Parts: sequence; structure tokens; C-alpha cells
Amino acid sequence: MGAQRGHVQSTRASMMAGEFDGGDGTRTPPGSGDAWGRVCDKFRREYGEHAYKTWLGQVGFVGIDGGSAELAAPTRFVRDWIQRNYGPRLRDYFSAENPQIRDITIHLRNPAAAEPVGQTGGQTGGGAPSPSAPQTPGTAAQPGQAATPQKMEALDRRYTFDSFVVGKSNELAYAAAKRIAESQEIPFNPLFLYGGVGLGKTHLMHAIAWEVTRHDPTKKVVYCSAEKFMFEFVAALRYKDSHAFKQKYRTVDLLMVDDVQFIANKDSTQEEFFHTFNALIDNRRQVIITADRSPTDLEGIEERIVSRLGWGLVADIHPTDYELRLGILQSKAEQAGSVMVSGDVLEFLARRITSNVRELEGALNRVMAYATLVGRPITMDMTRDVLQDLLRANDRKLTVEEIQRAVADYYNIRLSEILSQRRARTIARPRQIAMYLSKQLTARSLPDIGRRFGGRDHTTVMHAVRKIEDLRRSDSAMDEDITRLSRVLEA
Ligand code: ADP
Ligand code: MG
Repeated sequence: MGAQRGHVQSTRASMMAGEFDGGDGTRTPPGSGDAWGRVCDKFRREYGEHAYKTWLGQVGFVGIDGGSAELAAPTRFVRDWIQRNYGPRLRDYFSAENPQIRDITIHLRNPAAAEPVGQTGGQTGGGAPSPSAPQTPGTAAQPGQAATPQKMEALDRRYTFDSFVVGKSNELAYAAAKRIAESQEIPFNPLFLYGGVGLGKTHLMHAIAWEVTRHDPTKKVVYCSAEKFMFEFVAALRYKDSHAFKQKYRTVDLLMVDDVQFIANKDSTQEEFFHTFNALIDNRRQVIITADRSPTDLEGIEERIVSRLGWGLVADIHPTDYELRLGILQSKAEQAGSVMVSGDVLEFLARRITSNVRELEGALNRVMAYATLVGRPITMDMTRDVLQDLLRANDRKLTVEEIQRAVADYYNIRLSEILSQRRARTIARPRQIAMYLSKQLTARSLPDIGRRFGGRDHTTVMHAVRKIEDLRRSDSAMDEDITRLSRVLEA
């Protein structure tokens, strides 16, 4: 369904697709029940009564939003099964009923109870935090059971400020989150956090929630994914219960909506989101939003919403650099405690797994799990072996030109000078360094590298490589420069 979704997302649907007609937003779409009935009938005819009873019969029709038919399944298994095996057909049935429907979305009927805690793929079991839920090691100030507001979507106990490692790429986001969690007033509203997947946005939101409720357990804090927000809203429309919905979201002290890019093109959800958002801000309540891109880059979200999202503080989380990755690995290895991981292995992982923190954590966990299972200490060979697939996926091919550019930048000269025939030391030395790094960091041959440096001979490259090797041994400042450069290039 992935590809089809993508297509649908970029197709801007009309105000409220299908039988919804906007207005007060609380009407049950006339005849949509029949449409659903006809979809079910078609399914029965095509797949038989048994398949219907086992699968589609378990699913409820919730409503239509922005060109998407919203269904609710009782379990993750039923949802996934239907999506995989009947998704495209169901979409066809719906499109036949109403050509504006180009997509179906199947939710879990009770996401908070059925989804595992957090976004980490279900290592922590399901449901609300219980006293036996895993604790973040080494924190005295545990967010206690009593301080967990009822309205909160399940929060991951491991996602605290204490367990968040700060580096250059996330320091602004961290500082902003911390400020909100600790201040009595509202420092900026809304806070809009954005960055690529797996870089800590959800972690920071949960940390804020824990911290705020720890300070003041009476505070009404609501954390939800934009998907859940949408699901509840559509369900409220369907069951004519939008008053309770408004009540729930508009009376909170702190509202956090995660991954707001999800409501792109879901027009009626956006509308409600916008009203909720305005109401909260007007009442001086804190709002925090995350997305995978900046407000202005969000597509399929109305202009007025985009502009309001940018009113407060917009903080981005950049991809990690080597130092941060190493710091995160050290902290996770320490927390895990049971298995020793050597500095070499941690450095190797930090250098090679550059995609995002989630993968980095996953890599470390895999190596540790493997070592525990086979009862052997973790070696470099074992690490390479266990992580083969991950390492390959993270192998970004570095080009000679990228190296030349990075070196030119570093020494403040022009790329054209590196390629030129000039022999001044200020140019020639960086040129040799770039040749050396090209040899070290790419698979290119000496003649090949020579050609890419303004058509030089392979002996020139070889000479450069030897020269720099010597200098690294004798000149520690030079050695440091080169270490730094290779890290930048490999990051
Ligand atoms: P996002 O919401 O941005 O996709 P998450 O918050 O889910 O990312 O983070 C993915 C994983 O990486 C989580 O397990 C989280 O704890 C971890 N993580 C991300 N950034 C950091 C960090 N700076 N320090 C410690 N753990 C981090
Ligand atoms: Mg997230």
C-alpha cells in the first residue's frame, strides 16, 4: 500500500471528500452506512462468507476524511492482514462508491491500549505504564504511577531528559524542550520541533511530559500522535460525539501532537486541529508539535496553519555527528550494563551507522544480544559479522569530489585551486591531503585518483600518500586535522 499512499497524499482532495459536506462537521454522512454495506457485500461476493466473517466482518467503518476511508480493526493482526491481502481491493470498492476516495486507512480500534508503548517497535509491551514497566536505570526521580494523567497516551519510561544525550545537532531542541518542561510561564508557543526519522523528537516530547507531571501532577498533559488525533476526531464525527472530543483536547494545559505531517491532506482533521490549536494558544496553554520537516516544507497543510505553526519557536534536530553518536552509544552501553562493549567497537559503530539513532541503538542491541546468546565477548569480527546488512545499508559511497570539496572548505581555498597546477604550499599541502584521503576513504586506484586531480600521474598520488603518512606521524596538529576531516567525511 506504501506507493499508493504516497500517490494519494500528493493528490489534494476537496474540502471533505465523499458524502461529508463540511458544515458543522458533526453530521453523519447520509448514506455512508449503505456505502459501507455495499463494500461489505462486494467483499462477501468476491472472497466468500468465511473470509468476510474472519476479516472484514471484524472491522468497523469510521468515516471519510480527505479522500481516505477510515476503518477500525480490533487487533493489529487483523489490521495488517486486511491491509496486506485485501487493501487494494477494498480501495477499489470504495472508489467505486465514491471516486474521491483514493485510499483506505485502517486504525486500531483502541490504539492507546493496543499499541506498544512508544515508537520503538514494541520492545516494551503494551498498554499504559504499569508499576512493573521497565524503568530508566539510574534515575532517582522516576516519573511515578500517581503522576500519570489518565488522558495521556502511553509514554515510554525510558524517554527522559536524563537518558537523552545532547550534542551539537540537537542542543537547540533539547534546550527548548527543557525550558518548557521547567518554566512556570509559557516561554514560546507553540514549540515546533522537526527533524528526520529516529533523531529523538518523540523522546523529547515524552521527556517533557514526564517532567511536567512530575513537577505538578495536577497538570493536564496530553500527548498523542497526529494519527491518533485524527482517528479520534473522525470517530467523534461518526458517533456524533464531537463535543467530548473538543472538551478533551481544548481543556488541557499542555498538548503535544507528534508527527503532524500525518494530517497533511486530511482536511477536516486539519480544520479541527487548527481550532483546537487556536483555542489553546488563545487560552495561554502550551502546545508542542513535531514533524519530519519544517512548517514551510509541509505539503498539503493549509497556509494559515503553516504560518501559525511558525509563530513560536521552530527548532530543528540535525542528523547526528560522530561525537554525538559515540556519546549515545556509550550511554546506552553503560545503561545496559550486563555485557562489556569495548571502545573500539563503539567507535566502529559510531563511524559506520550514520543513518539515525534508532538504527544505532538497534545495532548495539543486536551485538549485545548476540554476545549474550553465544556467551562470547564482543569482538570487531563478531560486530562486522552480526551487522553485515546494516553496515552495507549505511555504506554511503564517498566520492573523490566530496573529499576535494571538504578539504578545500577546511583549508579555506577553492576547489579549482585543488585541481590546479599551482605549487604554493598553502595549496599543494591540502591537495596532497585530499589525495591521501581519497586513497583511504574510497576504493579508487592511484591512476584513477590522479585523473580526478586535474589529470595527474599515479606517482604523484603515491608520493602524496607517503608524504601525508609521514607528516601524520611527525606533526600532531596535522594528524588532528586529518582525523577531524575523515570524521566529517564519514559522518
Ligand atoms: P523520532 O521521534 O525523531 O523519529 P525517537 O524519539 O523515536 O525519534 O528516537 C528514536 C530512538 O533513538 C529512541 O529509542 C530514542 O530514545 C533514541 N534517541 C534519539 N536521540 C537520542 C539522544 N540524543 N540520546 C539518547 N537516545 C536518543
Ligand atoms: Mg517519533
